Amino acid sequence: MLALAGIPLGLRFRFLDPSPDATAGALGPLVVGALGDEDALAHVTEGATVVTYEWEGVPAAAARLVGATGPPVLPPPVALDVAQDRLREKELCRRLGIGTPEFAPVDDRTDLDRAVKELGWPGVLKTRRGGYDGKGQVVLRDPSDVDRAWADLGGVPLIVEAHVPFDRELSVLAVRGRDGASAYWPLVENHHAGGILRRSVAPAPGVSQALQEAGERLAGKLLDALQYVGVLAVELFDVGGQLLVNELAPRVHNSGHWTIEGAVTSQFENHLRAIMDWPLASTAAVGVSAMVNCVGALPDPRAVLAVPGAHFHDYAKAPGPGRKVGHITVTAGDAAELDARTTQLVGLPGTDVPA
Ligand code: AMP
Repeated sequence: MLALAGIPLGLRFRFLDPSPDATAGALGPLVVGALGDEDALAHVTEGATVVTYEWEGVPAAAARLVGATGPPVLPPPVALDVAQDRLREKELCRRLGIGTPEFAPVDDRTDLDRAVKELGWPGVLKTRRGGYDGKGQVVLRDPSDVDRAWADLGGVPLIVEAHVPFDRELSVLAVRGRDGASAYWPLVENHHAGGILRRSVAPAPGVSQALQEAGERLAGKLLDALQYVGVLAVELFDVGGQLLVNELAPRVHNSGHWTIEGAVTSQFENHLRAIMDWPLASTAAVGVSAMVNCVGALPDPRAVLAVPGAHFHDYAKAPGPGRKVGHITVTAGDAAELDARTTQLVGLPGTDVPA
């Protein structure tokens, strides 16, 4: 999607991916190799103007190595260090005065017993590294859950968080250029099922100007603290109008896919403008949008495209359980029209829209 946005701007792309089937190979030369493979990295980045990434699991050491010997790597690799470790993420927020669920590091069983006592019930035990889409975490409802959670996750660095009774999940998509200028898309409302993002609505309904500004303020602090360049996504809990940071994604993000058709400038174009040191462009929404992920299966394009305002994105990936293989963005003039249109997607394969 980055390349689809950049090619009309005259940019050309090379890709590194461990899979020879990576969809990006349709848009430019594909180097097949591990993301930490020095030879593959040297090959794919040779002579490039700038190097970027769209997965937060990229080894930070590899990103640093490229940046030290080759073209600049943006967003800066320190963003990978922070986003790959839930403890560092939350400590950074705390240092910047940004709200997060209460948390404590857990390195052994004694830490865990002490932390749950301090934080109260319920809690969530999570691995500090490597968790995504709800993996590597266990909810602690009462003391009887602690033994099982420790048996499941113990042995690696952990963090325990207070389980927040949020009203809804939101995200803020932010972009910062090399000159330090920043811009923010309207807050997005996100709906998950089984830990996987299924649907985003943008702009999030019922967001006051104060809430939008609070989201922008916290994202701006993170952008500046990290001397960030590119798009940053911040996943949030809305608790009675107070925003708490759940996690950071130092990349273009699934909850920003709606911006392709639903905003004046997409997250992909503005990411490229930022890393190229080009001017950023308007992040304003055009009407209202809903983005529905196609998980595990793809609907028939004919059925999707028959819905007014629907745009279909097929990632040309082999379908597998829980795998995001495409998405649909529905645009409309107002919330009622959006609702009427997205309702027409109900029942299509892969688009199981949670209420
Ligand atoms: P994560 O992998 O940290 O994004 O967590 C996946 C999902 O679990 C989130 O989108 C929330 O729905 C839920 N979750 C994670 N942490 C908490 C928490 N501290 N309190 C309440 N729900 C949480």
